[in-house]
Amino acid sequence: MSLRVTLLGTGTSHGVPAIGCDCDVCHSRDPRDRRLRPSILIEVAGSPDPPDDRTAASPTAASVRNILVDTSTDLRAQALTNDIRRVDAILFTHSHADHVLGLDEVRRYNAMQGAPIPCYADRATLDDLRRMFAYIFDAPRATAGGIPQLTVGCIAGPFTLGGIEIVPVPLVHGHQRILGFRIGGFAYLTDCNRIPEESWPLLGGVRVVVLDALRDRPHPTHFSVAEAVEAVARLAPDRAYFTHICHDLAHAATSARLPPGVELAYDGLVLEVP
Ligand SMILES: [Zn+2]
Ligand SMILES: [Zn+2]
Ligand SMILES: [Zn+2]
Repeated sequence: MSLRVTLLGTGTSHGVPAIGCDCDVCHSRDPRDRRLRPSILIEVAGSPDPPDDRTAASPTAASVRNILVDTSTDLRAQALTNDIRRVDAILFTHSHADHVLGLDEVRRYNAMQGAPIPCYADRATLDDLRRMFAYIFDAPRATAGGIPQLTVGCIAGPFTLGGIEIVPVPLVHGHQRILGFRIGGFAYLTDCNRIPEESWPLLGGVRVVVLDALRDRPHPTHFSVAEAVEAVARLAPDRAYFTHICHDLAHAATSARLPPGVELAYDGLVLEVP
């Protein structure tokens, strides 16, 4: 099994450029300085099940291939730009607006795939989603054609999607606990200002990590660049990429001063994870 991870959005909640901002980064001509709201697509290649043991495969083993993490405000644009033809499952990190407001766009995948999309989140996030998207979750069946068709799974610990193990990684995001995700040698740790002690063992041996790094100045709910660099030193992955970036950080200048093996992610970046 190998993973192909596409960074669909690497910006903070406002996106970059920010509306009405005249700073250098918001006016940059470097396409890597244009950042949509944070989300990734994980494409799973190869079967996690032994090829000669098809009967042991779970019923969904063949169907889970494209895992979307969060439905960002910019999901429609991200799906068009990256030509995303399938979404087999959605994992939610938390319910902040920048991570969920594109949920309505999954109607296209319902139409193309002729099936509901399985969504997974922790209890607090599911409760928020039910409230924020009452028109989806409380809708009478008669209106179902115009609203997303979802099935919901509550994350309470590691679980498998079609034979792929998904390990939720609790993260501290200000006063909230949210989820990062580890799949094989890859970890996606957006929206955090601290990795709690109990989560470090879940990240042992990680090869490629995508980590929050908002800006240089400290922030109460996000890692600064220096804090993220410190976390990477302890994680010791082969490669690390920073995301959830605000307009304080120009791509080229910031990447140039990061340690070897660490760089700013950018929209459209594809990571191959063995
Ligand atoms: Zn700006
Ligand atoms: Zn957040
Ligand atoms: Zn966010």
